[in-house]
Amino acid sequence: MHRSINLSPKSIAQWLCRISSSLSSTWRPFPLTISLAILLTICNSLPSQTCYFDESLQGMVNADIQFIQKLEINEAQLQDMMNGNAQAIMNSVVYTIPVVFHVIHLGESVGTGSNISNAQLMQALDDLNYDFRDIGGAGTDVEIEFCLAQRAPDGSPSTGINRVNGYGVGDYESIGMATGGNETALKALSIWPNRDYLNIWVVYNIIGDFGSTPPNGFATLPGAPSNVDGIVLRADATGVSSYSHVITHEVGHFFALYHTFEGSVGSTCAPNTDCHLQGDRICDTPHHLQPSGGCVTTGTTCDMVTSIAEVAHNYMNYTDNSCRDRFTAEQVMRMRTVLMTLRNTLTYSLGCEPGCTSVIADFIESSAIPYLTPYTFVNTTSGGALSYSWLLDGVEYDTTTKSLFKNFIALTNRFAK
Ligand SMILES: [Zn+2]
Repeated sequence: MHRSINLSPKSIAQWLCRISSSLSSTWRPFPLTISLAILLTICNSLPSQTCYFDESLQGMVNADIQFIQKLEINEAQLQDMMNGNAQAIMNSVVYTIPVVFHVIHLGESVGTGSNISNAQLMQALDDLNYDFRDIGGAGTDVEIEFCLAQRAPDGSPSTGINRVNGYGVGDYESIGMATGGNETALKALSIWPNRDYLNIWVVYNIIGDFGSTPPNGFATLPGAPSNVDGIVLRADATGVSSYSHVITHEVGHFFALYHTFEGSVGSTCAPNTDCHLQGDRICDTPHHLQPSGGCVTTGTTCDMVTSIAEVAHNYMNYTDNSCRDRFTAEQVMRMRTVLMTLRNTLTYSLGCEPGCTSVIADFIESSAIPYLTPYTFVNTTSGGALSYSWLLDGVEYDTTTKSLFKNFIALTNRFAK
């Protein structure tokens, strides 16, 4: 008796693993092809809060003059979408975006120094979800959530945490991550496709223009080059209570929010003849000057009428961490618009789904069966399949996961040639 099993992986999509096994013999107990297919994806006073977003953005514009044109095109697309489509944007659909953390350490053991612990990363993710779902109830629910990726770009299982040693990459060990400098090389160590993941790099230091106080993080706008797109957090400002809203602030930038004081310089307010096109492009965050920390809620904004309290608590401000607890309704609409347009590929990502394991689909037939007696197939699949599909002549017959499949009546003698 000759017996062979063919394993034939089939890719239905990048993320969909399908492994099938078919049994063929020189003899045929009955005129059926029995096959087992396994689908894996179907198968499968606190510190001042500063960020380097504006400086990083300026650097990108300086490096590529066409980038500003791209930003203008993107802005026009956002404004077109928001104009008259509020109901479609605020549709109560909760989106979940896969996140991958890249901890760029200096060779320390996990949980030490810049190689911060998994618990600290998970706390940061919890902080982000807490704020975006407005669990505190002070602002507007963004109805966007974030999961730690379970599936790597190649479809394999992942913890959603990449730990890479950045020692020796562009003097990282002596200066940290420098935007426009060693940034690209450091990000290249472990970046995942930005169409499917929100990349979050955690670094021990960020080079900025803030003297002895490095910024807590920075982020890229939609349209940024794919080899740098994502957010960067300082390790000691990640997943700790005194910096709990830093990640929220940076992800706000990732979804095209600007600082609420955007465009103001020193004691000079930003132009304000059209709140949708100037400043932070948001009309329910009145223009104001950049604060130097604290939580000042008395006084007025640039129009000398509206209370500064309107924006003191906003996540996109530079007030103290403990002061910030909300996004406004227009900020939420802008972020959701970005997710439906400029970053809509994130909504199709399967990064939150379990990864595909090395499943081997297989089965054996029961021992010698004489003519017209029950015939049993035993599932011997290994590797943790999530679902099963038994096919008879290519047509699904059963989806049982039990090891004992079905009894068939052998229509010919098993040993007949
Ligand atoms: Zn910022």
